[in-house]
Amino acid sequence: MAEPTFGTGPSTGGSWSAPGRVNLIGEHTDYNNGLALPIAIGQRTTVEAVPADDGVYRVSSAGHGQEVLFGPQTQPGEVTGWAAYVAGTVWALGELGVPLVPGSFTISSEVPTGAGLSSSAALECAVACGVLGLAGRGLDRHSLATATQRAENVYVGAPTGGMDQLASAFGRAGSALLVDVGADSLEQVPFELTESGLELLVIDTGSSHSHADGEYGARRRSCEQAAAALGVASLRDVQDAPLAETLASLAGLDDGTIARRVRHVITENARVERTVALLREKRITEIGPLLLASHESLRDDYEVTVPVLDLAVDAAMASGALGARMTGGGFGGSVIALVDAGLSESVAEGVSAAFVDAGHAAPTTRSVVPADGAGPLLPDTTP
Ligand code: ADP
Ligand code: MG
Repeated sequence: MAEPTFGTGPSTGGSWSAPGRVNLIGEHTDYNNGLALPIAIGQRTTVEAVPADDGVYRVSSAGHGQEVLFGPQTQPGEVTGWAAYVAGTVWALGELGVPLVPGSFTISSEVPTGAGLSSSAALECAVACGVLGLAGRGLDRHSLATATQRAENVYVGAPTGGMDQLASAFGRAGSALLVDVGADSLEQVPFELTESGLELLVIDTGSSHSHADGEYGARRRSCEQAAAALGVASLRDVQDAPLAETLASLAGLDDGTIARRVRHVITENARVERTVALLREKRITEIGPLLLASHESLRDDYEVTVPVLDLAVDAAMASGALGARMTGGGFGGSVIALVDAGLSESVAEGVSAAFVDAGHAAPTTRSVVPADGAGPLLPDTTP
């Protein structure tokens, strides 16, 4: 497929893509107005888009069954299943006033679904670029992330935060993205993995996130309750972990469970800040202990790990990883491990062996690098 062409009018078609992401550190902090540090990864979802003159969107995706058809007036609830992510993105951009040029969208992806790499944001952001490309319109990356998050929240009906779309939109090779939800700010932080002789492994435990929704809601409610008892708008406003624990306990918030939840959020924000400081000083190997401390906090204080996640972390560390932690919401999914490049195979093998010994299927391990975000995008010329 030719490079997309942009004239004064709509494009004649082209190829657009967007990456998956992995969160380096900063877990269960986003809904507490806190800090997260995702990277966009090299694995991408690609959309080949060609305009058609019959006013119909025809979308197909390798491995996802039959072509799905819908019109530019599509509304939430109309298209369901995987194509809802596509129709939702068209709908959200239409709501922003982007002129909609229907056509065929042929999707292929290197981002596995449900492995903690955010295939959904990769799909939405790639489709958004295609929709904008066919229209010959630019859009700022913030609006792209907001529109695609709206597609997922409102059209698909999944109540997710905005970190995935921000990472897919703003990712940059050699950088991690510091997302500060409370301050509504983004910052690129150097994350020179390959240059430092390191690899970041994503170990997909293959265990799905059963019970994740209910537990997620319960954690959110605990945090809201604690913030209210502490008299702050969100836990982001509390910086002193021992003091917050004491206050949460004094406030009569049960047996100490909520105090531990508070401690996780506060110490996790501090770990993100420390990680960012080390990365800025190019002391990348020293973030290992922070990754491990994040996992321990998620295991002991926030209680969102499950035995296979702990097993993967323990086995990665025993095999020589510099640090490892669960990534994503927990209750299953993936673990990341920071390793010396020369050790990546033996760490992957060590984790596989531990899984097999424990009677589990060997996990899938992938190496990821920080990569560029969605594109190509035209410069935003919105007045
Ligand atoms: P993830 O963590 O991978 O984002 P989600 O449950 O949020 O997991 O999104 C996965 C869903 O997104 C899939 O079940 C599918 O409906 C849709 N999806 C993601 N990538 C693709 C793709 N390349 N083609 C079709 N649908 C996709
Ligand atoms: Mg997703």
